[in-house]
Amino acid sequence: MNIDYHMHTNLSDGHNTHEEMILAALEKGFDEIGFSDHFNIKQPCKWAIGADEIIQLERKIFEMREEFGHRISILFGLEVDYFNDREDDIRKSLQQFNFDYVIGSIHFLGDWNYDTDKSRYVEFSNDFLYEWYFRELQKAAKSGLFDIMGHPDLIKKFRIWPETSQNQLFEETARIFAESGVAFEINTSGKDRPCGEFFPGNELLKALCNAGVPVTLGSDSHNKEQIGCHFDEARTILTEIGYTKITRFRNRKRIAVTI
Ligand SMILES: [Zn+2]
Ligand SMILES: [Zn+2]
Repeated sequence: MNIDYHMHTNLSDGHNTHEEMILAALEKGFDEIGFSDHFNIKQPCKWAIGADEIIQLERKIFEMREEFGHRISILFGLEVDYFNDREDDIRKSLQQFNFDYVIGSIHFLGDWNYDTDKSRYVEFSNDFLYEWYFRELQKAAKSGLFDIMGHPDLIKKFRIWPETSQNQLFEETARIFAESGVAFEINTSGKDRPCGEFFPGNELLKALCNAGVPVTLGSDSHNKEQIGCHFDEARTILTEIGYTKITRFRNRKRIAVTI
């Protein structure tokens, strides 16, 4: 089954409309796609919608299901910026909607958007950044807000490689994911970032597989050309590492299917 669960549209920071994304996914032979535009509880923010705009996403999904639902399954997802001090506000913003899944992402360390702002990397050692990042990710997994942890080692994006082995931190994180009942995605966009590899990389992926954490697939497309990019390679790596299933979602419930 061909699925892509991580796609952005022009309702957040993507370049294409829902219609354009769906038509491209159909052309590429996808059976099921999920839209996961950015939601950020702290406003203003250029690339994400606020709480009062989620309703527009929902309406658009309903509209798209009417139009294309007989040809492709269209899921209602969301990519949410996690902030430890705003868990209750995030929960309240999400609770009135019938999402198929919610992706939790760490794009911020404190107020620093390390994902786009490179200016502060010089202030910290890479090991310190890994520790900081993964502690936030662990809190996000434990919060109960999310079904899928997004691009689980995004901290490496700008070739931030750890100075020493982080396997212990990876194993601890994998255990917390398993205990918290969250899945994670192989986010293939990492391949086209400076780091040049999937999020997560092989060491973290092995730890997640050993801990029995379910995996799903996302391209993090911000335009229609990126849908499903590098998915064959992702499936190969998953199989090599020991995964036999990938996880679909419906109404925030998991459905395991053969890779
Ligand atoms: Zn993201
Ligand atoms: Zn994304």
